[in-house]
Amino acid sequence: MVYLWISWLVLRDDLISMEEILRQLPHRAKEKNTESTKFLARLKKKPPKNLDYVMQELHEVEFEHTDCLQCANCCKITGPLFTDADVLRISKHLKLRPQKFIEEYLRIDEENDHVLQQLPCAFLGADNHCLIYEVRPKACRKFPHTDRKKFHQINHLTLKNVAICPAAFNIVEKMKKLMDNKL
Ligand code: SF4
Ligand code: SF4
Repeated sequence: MVYLWISWLVLRDDLISMEEILRQLPHRAKEKNTESTKFLARLKKKPPKNLDYVMQELHEVEFEHTDCLQCANCCKITGPLFTDADVLRISKHLKLRPQKFIEEYLRIDEENDHVLQQLPCAFLGADNHCLIYEVRPKACRKFPHTDRKKFHQINHLTLKNVAICPAAFNIVEKMKKLMDNKL
């Protein structure tokens, strides 16, 4: 039943190009920021019992009609953090020593995490394919985190991601329509 509701709420952006969607996204996210901040705060205070289930459905429906290869905005204007396991796995794949991989591609950020030295990501191919897709960082596989459990615990990240990821933006807007009268 929730699936049908969510499908019904899908607002298709098919008529405008991904380029135009991405151009408008920061402005649209800024316009909605106060409303979204309040909504997510209410969600955090009183998360519905079926939140994980609803988020899973919203995420699946949204990504059924989202072509990440047309977008790749997350690889262009933000980047993942690299865990030690990511560094070992990717450096092995590239046949580099982990230290060499770190020196060539990563830097330490203000939170002491390994992040990309430069953006767009050095592993983003010209056709928006990830050149290390099979071994990409865990953070890339999980982005935009809209299907994670206890979604209400990452509100600060969600508010940032809705200005980067058109799918995350749509998911949050659909959440508002679906849940607002229950919070
Ligand atoms: S996850 Fe979001 S930002 Fe990244 S490519 Fe897909 S739609 Fe674009
Ligand atoms: S590693 Fe791949 S998926 Fe991750 S940011 Fe780079 S190109 Fe994108």
